[in-house]
Amino acid sequence: MQLIRHPLLSPAPGTQRELVSLHYGKTGGQKAYIQASLHGDELPGMLVAHHLRLELDALEASGQITGEIVLVPMANPIGLSQFLLHAHLGRFELMSGENFNRHYPDQIAAVAAEVEPQLGQDAAANVALLRRALKRAVAASPVDTELQSQRRTLLGLSCDADIVLDLHCDAQAVMHLYTETPCWPDCDPLARFLGARLTLLAQDSGDNPFDEACSQVWWKWKAQFGNRFPIPQACLSVTVELRGATDVTHELAAADAKNIVDFLRWRGLISGDKPALPAAVGDARPLAGSMPIKSPVAGVLTFLQPVGADVKAGDVLAHVIDPITAQITELKSPVDGLFFARDFLRFANAGMRVAKVAGHTALRTGKLLGA
Ligand SMILES: [Zn+2]
Repeated sequence: MQLIRHPLLSPAPGTQRELVSLHYGKTGGQKAYIQASLHGDELPGMLVAHHLRLELDALEASGQITGEIVLVPMANPIGLSQFLLHAHLGRFELMSGENFNRHYPDQIAAVAAEVEPQLGQDAAANVALLRRALKRAVAASPVDTELQSQRRTLLGLSCDADIVLDLHCDAQAVMHLYTETPCWPDCDPLARFLGARLTLLAQDSGDNPFDEACSQVWWKWKAQFGNRFPIPQACLSVTVELRGATDVTHELAAADAKNIVDFLRWRGLISGDKPALPAAVGDARPLAGSMPIKSPVAGVLTFLQPVGADVKAGDVLAHVIDPITAQITELKSPVDGLFFARDFLRFANAGMRVAKVAGHTALRTGKLLGA
């Protein structure tokens, strides 16, 4: 394993943060890139990365890693260090207010213009050509803040991978995934190995989150060139929501790491007997059908349904109680669907989104991701 340090742009004299990447296997074949805790206060992924590292160390020692596997066990040193009044705030950068998982640099048009004269009828050659040009373009993209240099470093390490796994979590949730619709055929096996109850599909959901920055290049280039040159969907990029924020246990993390290894073995990056494809325990639904449950009033929040419940439209999911008037406001599901995530706060502000139900029908439009 090769450990590489990537210094970030220093925001002030005397300070210097860095990203660390762990490199296993060899280049030239399939490449997987896995990062943990891009939202710095979402810790299940960091523990999964720890267990994954132990697995990869053992696999490397026994000569079984045949592809290239890059692991960034802690993807956000800025967010990891942000505490305010004893609360850990790892989702938004305190300097800019920007979400660490948005606004990744877009080099699609620039790379397309550069490589078009060299594209041909060999799909694999086109992929190699586009990857080299994309990596150069990302490396050359200008940065003038520490946050931008973190984004550029992460995208530079991942943009030429066949498989990208971005390990996150929700507040309280079942295992679920986000991926772009063109990735679903390749994502289905991953969902099975991970035991995901739900995969939310969208295309260009807005503001360029990390996973889409890695996958959208391919379907956008295909849309541009596909009738002249073969361009496959060469990157499966997935945001893996490892349940809830306090689901940080050795038992869960070791099992998740083993499931990721099984998937990588199934895909051919690790030698040995190919594991059987597990049965699906969930399905794929449109992100535009994932309905936020909002509280119209403020009060004490208590849930009547556990995460993972299949609910019907009109089912009461939670009560919001005004302690002064004793009035109880019922929060109902707007659709039939899977009650897959809910907040861990138990006080609701008026207008606050406190939970999500995934229906089967796309009902929402516009930007699909929350803050
Ligand atoms: Zn997250």
